[in-house]
Amino acid sequence: MERILIVEDNKTLANLITKKLQASLKFEVDIAYKLSEAKLFLHKYDYFITLLDINLPDAPDGEIVDYVLSKGQHAIVLSANIDKEFRKKILKKNIIDYVNKGGVDDINYIIHTIDRLDKNRKHKVLVVDDSMVFRKQMNGFLKNLFYNVYTVAHGEEALGMLNTHPDISLVITDYNMPVMNGLDLVYEIRKQKSKNDLCIIAISGHQDEEINALFLKYGANDYIKKPFSKEEFSCRINNAIEALENIHIITNHANRDYLTGLYNRRYFYDSMQEYMESISQTGEQFAVAMVDIDDFKKINDKYGHDIGDKVIVHLAEVLSSATSYRDLVSRFGGEEFCIVLKNINRYSANDILERIRQEVASYTLNLENEKYIQFTISIGATLHTEDTLDETINLADMMLYNAKNNGKNQVVFR
Ligand code: GH3
Ligand code: MG
Ligand code: MG
Repeated sequence: MERILIVEDNKTLANLITKKLQASLKFEVDIAYKLSEAKLFLHKYDYFITLLDINLPDAPDGEIVDYVLSKGQHAIVLSANIDKEFRKKILKKNIIDYVNKGGVDDINYIIHTIDRLDKNRKHKVLVVDDSMVFRKQMNGFLKNLFYNVYTVAHGEEALGMLNTHPDISLVITDYNMPVMNGLDLVYEIRKQKSKNDLCIIAISGHQDEEINALFLKYGANDYIKKPFSKEEFSCRINNAIEALENIHIITNHANRDYLTGLYNRRYFYDSMQEYMESISQTGEQFAVAMVDIDDFKKINDKYGHDIGDKVIVHLAEVLSSATSYRDLVSRFGGEEFCIVLKNINRYSANDILERIRQEVASYTLNLENEKYIQFTISIGATLHTEDTLDETINLADMMLYNAKNNGKNQVVFR
């Protein structure tokens, strides 16, 4: 497990922070009460974050901060009196943030900040600026916030980078650049990626208020005016990323089935409409399969609903891992699933479905008390022709009916 070091001579406070940290985040916490103790810990371990009191018995004037930074560690500073002078002085150092240590809210702020930094490690940020000095500075700021950073010098390069890294979460762009300026870049990006997929923050040095308004109109989420403080910068960046994460959580709730995490019927139809439009010119073929657990009622009756749920979850895992990331696996309801195998012919589709059937039939779900369950599925499938999607699904459903009538545990492909 990764570690956090708290260096604080107020034991009550150190313990309180530790307790809160361990209750909500997964970190090992070490506490040092003096600089000398902190040195021993830092000799032994690497830390994700260090929380540093700047007034320690053996280091009364923030000496701990310079020591920790010289070891290449990340620091958040704790202080009881934060005034303008202090902020100016402390922010010159390469710390992540400073925190007032007053009450419970301040401790919550610390926890929230560490959680934020932890999550930042999953995000990629692209910086677009023609000034190398500025790129370097931003790179430093962002890396200090644990983001994965990519930098490019102009808009064309940025578009290429977004192509090779479609999972970039945030683009930070300058306005004045050769080849393609920031506004044109925002315009181009928004043709492909909505605000739900990607955040854009513009950096403008312009006196002209109009540019900032245009940035927002073209689809930037926010702008930051040069010159800006490191504090403003990190707050705006983190806010933007947090908003994006919240959108993802909400859409996931709307599109996915709670029990299995598979897509639900609603998402299935939305996504298939898009897919069918995209292949209308290419003639790409796809197969639709309806999957249903055999005699599932008996499983529920014999072992209970909770075990029934486990069976459903297991089947969902088999279906996901046996198909490609391009394919669409969704739970239509109850113990019924619909699979779309994309860009495929009848023989390969039949192969995949037959393999799924066998894998399920040969699996044993172990319960407590040395009980175990084996179960089977039936699959009805067809290749999509010029019918509507609903007609294709109905046909697959009829094939499933045939599979059940023929004795279950089989694939019927028409
Ligand atoms: P067949 O082989 O013909 O498919 O028989 P079956 O018993 O599987 O058929 P049926 O569709 O009649 O039964 C499905 C049962 O699944 C009925 C319902 O109570 C149960 N069920 C539906 N959703 C869930 C769920 O989320 N969890 C559990 N445990 N059971 C569910
Ligand atoms: Mg069934
Ligand atoms: Mg059923």
